[in-house]
Amino acid sequence: MTITHITHRIAFALAGSLCLALPAHALKVVACEPEWGALTQELAGSHASVYVATSALQDPHNIQARPSLIAAVRNAELLVCTGAELEAGWLPVLQRQAGNPAVRPGQPGAFYAADFVRKLDVPTRLDRADGDVHAAGNPHIQTDPRNIAAVAPALSRRLSELDPAHAADYAQRLADFQARWGQALQRWNQAAAPLRGLPIVVQHKGFPYLEDWLGLKQVAALEPKPGVEPSSAYLSTVLTKLQQQPARVILRAAYNDDRSARWLSERAKVPVAVLPFTVGGSERAKDLFGLFDDTVDTLLKATQ
Ligand SMILES: [Zn+2]
Repeated sequence: MTITHITHRIAFALAGSLCLALPAHALKVVACEPEWGALTQELAGSHASVYVATSALQDPHNIQARPSLIAAVRNAELLVCTGAELEAGWLPVLQRQAGNPAVRPGQPGAFYAADFVRKLDVPTRLDRADGDVHAAGNPHIQTDPRNIAAVAPALSRRLSELDPAHAADYAQRLADFQARWGQALQRWNQAAAPLRGLPIVVQHKGFPYLEDWLGLKQVAALEPKPGVEPSSAYLSTVLTKLQQQPARVILRAAYNDDRSARWLSERAKVPVAVLPFTVGGSERAKDLFGLFDDTVDTLLKATQ
């Protein structure tokens, strides 16, 4: 069994373990991505039953609106998604086909995490020729733990609004999460200090928030345009660029195909770091804390 197969199994086991049998009154939540499923679990505990629509090994831009997802959205009381157009290709289809007015955009049952953070890479011009550019700014907000901290109180408020009977519990759980998250953030900041200024290559422009948090410097991206696989001619231009402006590590998310990163790594003699990107993206990324423990350690190890 290859490593990829093993991580596949872990990701699916994790996605499965989030849908436990719960008391009948539990709020039915559908999380578009694993990080929001994990955050909802932290903040709601047994008051919510969480169905996670995607795994860490799926490209969150490109998901099929399959019948099982439509059924989940039909029964949901709350959708917790990234927004900022990350799910533009599939979530509106689910919302339309589910015929559930409670979770349509603008309703309390539709929560978009990106509404609560400062967006990076907001384009100054929009042109289809530039590829899969996100007009609302880069949507991959979950790679900065400070963004998780910004989303948590907003999500907690929304849970209380939809389930006021348990408002005191949600407030208590939020305070507890914030205390643990604050401590963990200090630990990550300290451990990651040597990474400041590190020149990196990214596969997809999926890490601007991680770069902003840790002070990493993006030298190049492997995708010529967001969502477009590089040709070998394009990869050669990246290789030439690295000869002038060396990078210390190539970052890719667990869901990215590994061929381009490997091609460049072999020729430029720069290691590849596979980051979990979200909960379930590696064995250690079992929850939000493990996600950042593993992200920081993987970067440190790759650049030793
Ligand atoms: Zn993207």
